Amino acid sequence: MNDRSSDAIGPQAAPSHDLIACPQCDWLHDVGDVPTGTRARCVRCRTVLLAPRRGAAATIVALATGALILMVVAVSFPFLDIAAGGLRSSASVMDAALSFALASGRMAPLSVIVLALIVVLPVARLCGLIYALGPLALGRRARPYAAQAFRISMRLRPWAMAEIFIIGVAVALVKVSSLAAVGFGPAFWAFVGLVILVAAKDTILCERSLWRALDRAA
Ligand SMILES: [Zn+2]
Repeated sequence: MNDRSSDAIGPQAAPSHDLIACPQCDWLHDVGDVPTGTRARCVRCRTVLLAPRRGAAATIVALATGALILMVVAVSFPFLDIAAGGLRSSASVMDAALSFALASGRMAPLSVIVLALIVVLPVARLCGLIYALGPLALGRRARPYAAQAFRISMRLRPWAMAEIFIIGVAVALVKVSSLAAVGFGPAFWAFVGLVILVAAKDTILCERSLWRALDRAA
């Protein structure tokens, strides 16, 4: 892959829509067209500013669709089952979240927060990406409000916490495993697959390149 540094300009230069501030050192760059498969880097700290890839929108839409299907599996099937003292119980993600609401009135808001962070917000992100980038993947014009959908998807990124949920569950199960026999249900493996797909999607997603592609398709 070729690298090319973009032209650095002084801080007093007239602003234009092609001005990009380096996310690491704030140096302003006037970035022109960056050919697909190449990267534009900061002239001062070499941080990648733009990295357009061929077929990026199609790959992101495919990964997001796969993640959405896995999310349906993850909330529909048992997440884990626990056996102790001759008793066996299995629970889904919904059971776990709603148990906070049933345990006590003061814990009810926690169930809303848990459901929002591990199900609702990740689904909203994935739907926003599919809506905004789907037409780009097919070489069509952008849909109405595609820019807004893409912006919301990007803003929700820090709040979609399916992977943190998986780590939390894994730590809790290690502690519980000495007291009871714990088995993972289909939903656990669906969550693991979902986390991998989302990580792959975020790795190839170059936000500025996609903004440019959305501008061109508008
Ligand atoms: Zn920099």
